[in-house]
Amino acid sequence: MAMDEKIEPIYDEVVRHNPGEVEFHQAVREVLESLGPVLSKHPEFAERKIIERICEPERQIIFRVPWHDDRGEVQINRGFRVEFNSALGPYKGGLRFHPSVYLGTVKFLGFEQVFKNGLTGMPIGGGKGGADFDPKGRSTNEVMRFCQSFMTELYRHLGEYTDVPAGDTGVGAREIGYLFGQYKRITNRYESGVLTGKGVDWGGALVRTEATGYGTVFFAEEMLRARGDSMDGKSVVVSGSGNVALYAIEQVHQLGGRVIACSDSNGAIHDPQGIDIELLREIKEIERGRVSDYAQRRAGARFRERTVDPNSIWELPCDVALPCATQNEVTGRDAKSLIHGGCQVVAEGANMPTTPEGIRAFLDAGIAFGPGKAANAGGVATSALEMQQNASRDRWTFAYTEERLRGIMRDIHARCETAADEYGSPGNYVVGANVAGFLRVANAMVALGLV
Ligand code: GLU
Repeated sequence: MAMDEKIEPIYDEVVRHNPGEVEFHQAVREVLESLGPVLSKHPEFAERKIIERICEPERQIIFRVPWHDDRGEVQINRGFRVEFNSALGPYKGGLRFHPSVYLGTVKFLGFEQVFKNGLTGMPIGGGKGGADFDPKGRSTNEVMRFCQSFMTELYRHLGEYTDVPAGDTGVGAREIGYLFGQYKRITNRYESGVLTGKGVDWGGALVRTEATGYGTVFFAEEMLRARGDSMDGKSVVVSGSGNVALYAIEQVHQLGGRVIACSDSNGAIHDPQGIDIELLREIKEIERGRVSDYAQRRAGARFRERTVDPNSIWELPCDVALPCATQNEVTGRDAKSLIHGGCQVVAEGANMPTTPEGIRAFLDAGIAFGPGKAANAGGVATSALEMQQNASRDRWTFAYTEERLRGIMRDIHARCETAADEYGSPGNYVVGANVAGFLRVANAMVALGLV
């Protein structure tokens, strides 16, 4: 999409000022391309330089994380927390542990989080963090020592009213446990609301584990409903096999669809009968194994190695695609394969999994495309519900919390539709999500003055 001529120089300055951070540039570009009509209606945003301010994180923290591995050798990683925007509430967003993490990753994720959190309608600002630590092949003790060292620096920046991390790739309930334990020890406070994604026995909320995957499917269901259709009987392809993918698969099956494929960094499995979610969960969550193990234990399922065929998963004919693995996993070519295979609806469970060329191809083909900011917002929204329960020392049932999540996803869908209509791009969820998220944050920033 072409960028408004008043906004183009702002984008150029972001690129100049943040050299080499290509994912951050991409995330900024996608939002800024949607904002032309907003500036025309709201001159106050230009006067107050809201777009320029929203692109500059409020605070960026980079720190050394030293730890001992099991052989007694010293290891050193780099930790990050980018506190992007607190106009709507404390900084909120996950931590990612992956060897590829650098400042540009954390800034792209933090930038996305600002708008996503705005779109949820809840009182949460945006932030993100992580480290270039590779948990793969590390023992539980090594993971614990790493988490303790990471928190020994990070704790001073956190607080239930200040900054509230959660999980992301490589950070699940186990890591949140070690991080919370160290925070509690250092501060001598049982401050439940300082982290979300906690275990349900010690301050966690029911449905938080399932929320991102379930929410993505609820969002896809809303998009289908807007077209007079439903998930029932649909053939679905899900990429990834982490927390988001697992619970997306589970929810598709609950709504009567059938997931025929999923993947990990080694390759993809195709199971035409439909993925056996119990078996997959056992392999992934209990054994911490690979999807190739699934293909070995399930009759009729086939595994295709990534080295042989990097993106074979998107070549399978399907009605609905849910990219739930990682950024830029769906290229323009993959999008064309999906369209060719009959795909009608795409909902992003991961953050920015579709490249700009992919998004363009989907929109040009009239596919219902739900961007991550909207489609995967159920995770962070349920984190906000966890904070609410922590603040009131209350505990809600699974059924009640799931109903709240369903309502939140319905509202997000409606906000995207309304904003897309009002700002001249009916049916375009990318514009809808960017504009609705931006408006909420921008209005708060105007109200709070030049801070
Ligand atoms: N990492 C998740 C996301 O991308 C969840 C963040 C949270 O719950 O704070 O939205």
